[in-house]
Amino acid sequence: MTIIAENLEAVRKRIVAACAAVGRDQHEVKLLAVSKSVSAGVVAQAVASGQLAYGENYIQEALGKMALLRQLPIEWHCIGPIQSNKTRLVAENFDWVHSVDRLKVAQRLSEQRPIHLPPLQICIQVNIDASATKAGIAPDQALELARSVAVLPGLTLRGLMTIPEPAPDFAAASATHLRTRDLYESLRRDGLELDTLSMGMSLDLEAAVRAGSTLVRVGSAIFGSRPPAVQD
Ligand SMILES: *Cc1c(COP(=O)(O)O)cnc(C)c1O
Repeated sequence: MTIIAENLEAVRKRIVAACAAVGRDQHEVKLLAVSKSVSAGVVAQAVASGQLAYGENYIQEALGKMALLRQLPIEWHCIGPIQSNKTRLVAENFDWVHSVDRLKVAQRLSEQRPIHLPPLQICIQVNIDASATKAGIAPDQALELARSVAVLPGLTLRGLMTIPEPAPDFAAASATHLRTRDLYESLRRDGLELDTLSMGMSLDLEAAVRAGSTLVRVGSAIFGSRPPAVQD
């Protein structure tokens, strides 16, 4: 068994245990393997262990891997910031985008989504803890953006995504994730048909699952620690 296969199994066990601890069905939580800075060969190893959904932050890096792994049935998720001049590449090559936080980017993704592909699956990124360094729309503006995105023909709005600041402990992480959950539920009460709450990473996936996450984005716990990020 490769180290990647072992790590994947350990992460899946963490998800199962986190679900069991709060009486959730483990199938409610999807694992997205975050493969930024990970080579195509290592991604192929993870695919061989049954992991088919991958998250990438940098468009050029992702396109290189997509080309090399074209024959594999991978679902590609864009989870990084999107500049307006990159929307076409995203619309043409990804299955999901978690990082929509502006209507202009959503409109471009919708217009540029090729007609022969299914709609691009979208989460709106919310800056839940008002972090100055991170992307995401303010929580009090999320409903308006969600309503506008939901009617764009090339997109299917699925839910919300957050990347909170690292929390000092489980209780603090849970409290922040619960605020995102509350926002998600309020959007659903407003009539938006959402089924995806993208929150939780290597260090806080248990707190996120407890708060209702339906998709955890896990990088280092699967692939090991990363070199410092390089922007494309
Ligand atoms: C890098 C990254 C992750 C994964 O983080 P880990 O701590 O390595 O699990 C998840 N989501 C986003 C948006 C990221 O950029």
